[in-house]
Amino acid sequence: MLSSINIAVPTYRTFTTHQRKYLHGRSFAGREVDIAGDGRCDSPGHSALYGITTLMELKNHRVISSKLVKSTEVSSSNAMELEGLKRCREELALHQIKVSSLTTDRHTGVTKYVRQQWPEIKHYFDTWHISKGLKKRLAEKTRTAKYRAIAPWIKSICNHLYWCVWSSEEESDREEKWRLLLSHITNDHTKCNHETKPSTKAWIVQGSPCERILSEMLLSSRLINDIKRAGKQNTSELEAFHAKINHYAPKMTGYTYQGMSSRYQLAVMYHNENVNRPYRVSKAGEAMYSISRSKHSKLQPIATKLRVPPTYNILFTKFSLF
Ligand SMILES: [Zn+2]
Repeated sequence: MLSSINIAVPTYRTFTTHQRKYLHGRSFAGREVDIAGDGRCDSPGHSALYGITTLMELKNHRVISSKLVKSTEVSSSNAMELEGLKRCREELALHQIKVSSLTTDRHTGVTKYVRQQWPEIKHYFDTWHISKGLKKRLAEKTRTAKYRAIAPWIKSICNHLYWCVWSSEEESDREEKWRLLLSHITNDHTKCNHETKPSTKAWIVQGSPCERILSEMLLSSRLINDIKRAGKQNTSELEAFHAKINHYAPKMTGYTYQGMSSRYQLAVMYHNENVNRPYRVSKAGEAMYSISRSKHSKLQPIATKLRVPPTYNILFTKFSLF
């Protein structure tokens, strides 16, 4: 019908070629890959209608599997992420892609499933998610005057978390480094390994309510276990991909299953075409940056290395409308 009104449509062969090349990641067939997985709901809370689970290969940051699940297919909205993961896993198996490690947030259903049904892979928790959760919990505490003195330390605490993960392989080593944090911020440096004392921030007073709440939060066994299981892989591209889906399928608009399915597949194709674009250089051959001041950085300027503009070959050349 589309061709009768002069709209070009890809042949079935072209469609399957692109599907194989850009969606299924056939080039990974037979290889062992480290992947990150995450779910994205079409609306916040527990009332989401669609969930998309995406698996990203962590070396080249290409999406190698992505599945759309409708909440009516499973028991609840919360179960969509795990169902999507199971379907992605089936697809990887179909293409003989072997998974050596999976990095996810600490979604309980996923954690239990991997432990019981997929024990041959290493399962890491995403450090970015752990840090984000801790930052949020600490920021909430500082809203009351009693705990306000914690605020200047939040950034350092999160940086220390990354350092513990990145600088250690052994779980015990990570725990030991993490535990040092509390004595350091209360101005007790007997176990610290630094020579000069940083003095830009007011120390947390020993025995104060701030110290007690920090001790409770930072030394909780749940957080320490998360740090021990944290992965060193950079998963920011997966977050960026999920943000990109919003351009193709804004959360405020309702879509049919087919509509949603087409839209997120376009996002996958866009992402895989553009994820590893080269960086821009000036005529003098120097790297180019953009400067932004986001509210997250408390209006401190952030320099970001610019990449060359994205291309849409897969969307517009191959599927040319006219
Ligand atoms: Zn110290």
